[in-house]
Amino acid sequence: MSTPSSTADRDIVVIEDEEAIRDVVEYNLQREGFEVRTAGDGRAGLQLVRDRTPKLVVLDLMLPELDGLEVCRALREDPATRLVPVIMLTAKGDESDIVLGLGVGADDYVVKPFSPKELVARVRAILRRNEPCEGAGSTEAIDADLERDPDRLRVELGAVSVDPDRHEVLIGGVEERFTRTELRLLYVLVRKPGRVYTREQLVERVMGENAWITDRTIDVHVRAIRQKLGAHADLIETIRGVGYRSRDMATTAPDA
Ligand code: CA
Repeated sequence: MSTPSSTADRDIVVIEDEEAIRDVVEYNLQREGFEVRTAGDGRAGLQLVRDRTPKLVVLDLMLPELDGLEVCRALREDPATRLVPVIMLTAKGDESDIVLGLGVGADDYVVKPFSPKELVARVRAILRRNEPCEGAGSTEAIDADLERDPDRLRVELGAVSVDPDRHEVLIGGVEERFTRTELRLLYVLVRKPGRVYTREQLVERVMGENAWITDRTIDVHVRAIRQKLGAHADLIETIRGVGYRSRDMATTAPDA
């Protein structure tokens, strides 16, 4: 049903040391028309990605040689692979692994044991979300609401400045590394200080309508953002039972 323009558009690297899982993932992605390259350890996987930049990486967390976190960190530090989407495979119920994975720049995660169907759906969702995003640093894929916003540019709130076009977050004038998802989430919140968003609204605005992502994921991303905001973590307020908002400085701080 798909119409790939070239194999490069369908190129996925799967890094997983458990052969059975690797085979199942490879089989199911190939069946959907993807070209799949596989590696059984982190070092070999990283090499595959560096040989030829894929459209997406499926990355197991627990790997020999280099573990998934190290691989993900290495990908994010290299300008050539900085924007390649990463789906992390994590152990069941281990939230700290999920937090760590998202913290080093994974775009999404799938908890083992997972259904191949679910993984394929997430791969598709992420690729769709990134489709128009060809140029490095571009945020063309940012949700439709932001696309329509003619004033889409740097926003500032207190000590925090977010520039989606340059993929840049400054905290007290110092640049801090944010994942795409974190940056979008922060941008949505900071753009309208004081406005409360439900988790569902944030999922929709940040991930797009067809996102295969749970409300709980938003909590994980917010936690990561607050960690990076450090002393300014209170900029993002939790509205109990509802969702989140950014602090409205105009009403809480004296204006100069
Ligand atoms: Ca493993």
